[in-house]
Amino acid sequence: MHTDPDPVYAGDHAVPSAPGTSFLLVLPRDVEGVQATLRLAHETGTPVVPRGAGSGLSGGATPIDGSIVLSLERLTRIREIDVLDEVAVVEAGVITADLSEALAPHGFFYAPDPASARLSSIGGNIATNAGGLHCAKYGVTRESVFGLEVVLADGTLLRTGHRSIKGVTGLDLTQLLIGSEGTLAIVVAATVRIRPLPVARRTVLARFPTVAGAAAGVNAISRSPVRPAACELLDARSLEDIDENTGAGVAEGESAVLLVELDGYGIAEQTRDLIAALGGAGGPADDGGDGGDAGPSDVEIRVLEDEAEAEHWWELRRSGRGSGAGHFRLGEDVAIPKSRLADAFAVIERIGREHGIRTSAVAHAGDGNLHPSLSLPRPEDNPDPSAPLPPVLHEAADDLVREALALGGTISGEHGIGTAKHSWLDLELSDASRALQRRLKDAFDPQHLLNPGKAL
Ligand SMILES: Cc1cc2nc3c(=O)[nH]c(=O)nc-3n(C[C@H](O)[C@H](O)[C@H](O)COP(=O)(O)OP(=O)(O)OC[C@H]3O[C@@H](n4cnc5c(N)ncnc54)[C@H](O)[C@@H]3O)c2cc1C
Repeated sequence: MHTDPDPVYAGDHAVPSAPGTSFLLVLPRDVEGVQATLRLAHETGTPVVPRGAGSGLSGGATPIDGSIVLSLERLTRIREIDVLDEVAVVEAGVITADLSEALAPHGFFYAPDPASARLSSIGGNIATNAGGLHCAKYGVTRESVFGLEVVLADGTLLRTGHRSIKGVTGLDLTQLLIGSEGTLAIVVAATVRIRPLPVARRTVLARFPTVAGAAAGVNAISRSPVRPAACELLDARSLEDIDENTGAGVAEGESAVLLVELDGYGIAEQTRDLIAALGGAGGPADDGGDGGDAGPSDVEIRVLEDEAEAEHWWELRRSGRGSGAGHFRLGEDVAIPKSRLADAFAVIERIGREHGIRTSAVAHAGDGNLHPSLSLPRPEDNPDPSAPLPPVLHEAADDLVREALALGGTISGEHGIGTAKHSWLDLELSDASRALQRRLKDAFDPQHLLNPGKAL
């Protein structure tokens, strides 16, 4: 147990705690320690802020005053790997990428792969229902979790779900808990689905003259029989961001890039069909309508045979945009039906013009999840990185969230609500839905001690 305020625990990756916030940091080594902490919190009426690795971007793990910050980082055992049942049983504090590394010698991997996989924990991924690059084919975290071991607000240990691939007994508490951002229970372990490593992988890079052309490329893939493992769209300004941060030299005028990974059997056939689909995309009539008479565009398609070059591109996509040093920057996360990508990129550009700010965006295009960046240069006489963001960035974010809803989307694709998106909940959820969610909260956590003020 730590009582010294430790700056590492004073916020997540995006939202610092309020000045003067004091909290008690507890780092249990085992499940019994988690239970004992919750019993104590229950008896004393102390709020508990669960924490995985603190890589969240919505303030979910950010301490509140007078709380216990309950870090699961020491629960790092991979208890079991069973390739016949295609499951692994892992504790909540296991770092996401470490699980796939442990599975690799068995010829298996764990599919959910947020770009933060080297920073985030399995428990945090489950609490936020994290997405990632390979969701396009393998689904988000919830599609890889069969069962959970959780500690309830009063310290009771509960096992939910099953180890079998099928299972329909009772209400599905596992799926209810996934994505509940630490407001219903503490995840201490999970039975997760593992998959055989693909027999082959191939990266294809398609450069389109415009972002609308690249969005048309996504529609062309949707119409084709090819289902990429990953399909990422980088607009012209995000390519410029990457160049500014890394010097990679990937921006070319207004062109946008689709970075596609294929995997599995028949990779040559998949590649052929992908190239055929992308080669026919790009005309205005292919922007989400019925296909019409769009002819071949001047899309430039390259199969990246050199694995090092392919990995370089994927690494640029994962972390190349950097943190935007020298700028006030607000990173967003919205999702829309993927057929509306062209509209979404047009909206982002319009919001930039109307608010006089710079915008750039990348998208997990295979599932319609956009990460726009809204920014303004920091004045040279005010380089303080902790200075509050100018209100115009928040106003632009507000427009963006409303436009995403108007396109049939959602206010958060994968980063969660935390505190950062709390004020927009009513825009998406009906009164009836919120009231029901409050009743569920009452049932799980009658004293409202688990992550109060977050997510719900
Ligand atoms: C560079 C970078 C890239 C990112 N890329 C992605 C991405 O591609 N996809 C994506 O989805 N996210 C991404 N994120 C966001 C973040 O990594 C995810 O939200 C991740 O799932 C958080 O995991 P964590 O262990 O760090 O959790 P934390 O940040 O510690 O906590 C996140 C939330 O989960 C709760 N929580 C944590 N552990 C538990 C537990 N054991 N039981 C109950 N509640 C718990 C916390 O209270 C909080 O509400 C990125 C973040 C960064 C910094």
